[in-house]
Amino acid sequence: MKNIAILGSTGSIGTQTLDVVRTHPELFHVSALAAHTSDVLLESQIEEFHPALAVLTDNAAASRLQQRYRGNTEILGGKEGLLKAAAFPATDTVVTSLMGFAGLAPTMAALDAGKNIALANKETLVVAGELVMRRAKEQGVSILPVDSEHCALFQCLQGEQRDTVEKLLLTCSGGPFRGRSREELQGVSVMDCLQHPTWSMGKKITVDSATLVNKGLEVIEAHWLYAMPYDQIQVVVHPQSVVHSMVAYRDGAVMAQLGTPDMRLPIQYALTYPTRMSSEFSRLDFWNMPDLTFERPNTDVFRGLQLAYDAGRAGGTLPCVLNAANEVAVEAFLQGRLSFLAIYDIIEQTVARRTNRFHPSLEILCEEDAWARRYAGELLERLG
Ligand code: MG
Repeated sequence: MKNIAILGSTGSIGTQTLDVVRTHPELFHVSALAAHTSDVLLESQIEEFHPALAVLTDNAAASRLQQRYRGNTEILGGKEGLLKAAAFPATDTVVTSLMGFAGLAPTMAALDAGKNIALANKETLVVAGELVMRRAKEQGVSILPVDSEHCALFQCLQGEQRDTVEKLLLTCSGGPFRGRSREELQGVSVMDCLQHPTWSMGKKITVDSATLVNKGLEVIEAHWLYAMPYDQIQVVVHPQSVVHSMVAYRDGAVMAQLGTPDMRLPIQYALTYPTRMSSEFSRLDFWNMPDLTFERPNTDVFRGLQLAYDAGRAGGTLPCVLNAANEVAVEAFLQGRLSFLAIYDIIEQTVARRTNRFHPSLEILCEEDAWARRYAGELLERLG
């Protein structure tokens, strides 16, 4: 029996993780759950899965639930509650599916407490890859990717020697605006953006997929997970999202992982690795499959990818600054306060303004994140 804590249990990845748990009650027990504000959904999760601890980081939501709940689960609120859920003693593996920079501190707390991580919060590695990978190594715990592309890479790397890898090939659907020119992107709305062609996800990541910032963040994530130089990580646009990513080896062989676009497969693999469990997930139907196509990403229009490569190559605190500026810009876009293309301007100008700092501690990263949010906020006033 594996004890699992889920941070972000009411979001897209969190609820799908509970789907996996539900189908394998003999394998998993839920020890702790944490969410932000969704007290009603969290309460129904508590009733179904009986964790020892449940947390709402929003204090008002936490006290709402504390007032009406009469069961045995301990209910806590705030950031301290979240850190407690991350380090909860009975847990073996923590699924980190919080959104954005907010996932970093609880992931570090989980690592400090010696937990294995099933990582769905890519921003953690973007912001603090060096720190997080070092801490995991010191603690002798594993960080297994839940991100579909990185799970695909992980599967394609099984049983191979790392120094025989020529390239990691990260596939990318291209998002809802693939093929459009800059002019055609001028007036796109939030609604246009949220119509992702192949995957159904949370709002922030759906906007990131449209800007290709998501793919840029994934390049940085892959760099840290697999200790691969940026020159050996290549993005391939593949609109059908059937090939989830590939690894090219030095003899010319390319290994690919294919599947339907269902996040429950990477979640289950991360939780049961090295065992492959049976599943009821839908199967690929080769007789009714669209033609699989591959193309080069257009980085002149979708500048997010190049901005992320540049920040990743620079290293230090710049990926943290890029991430914070993106979070601020995406939030403003979702609120209708910023145009789609101006997301890139906010990111670019914020990163250009800041001097890099190398080998940052968690404290320094928090400082840089706060600075970048302030600065991006000021830019918004001017550009928005
Ligand atoms: Mg992904």
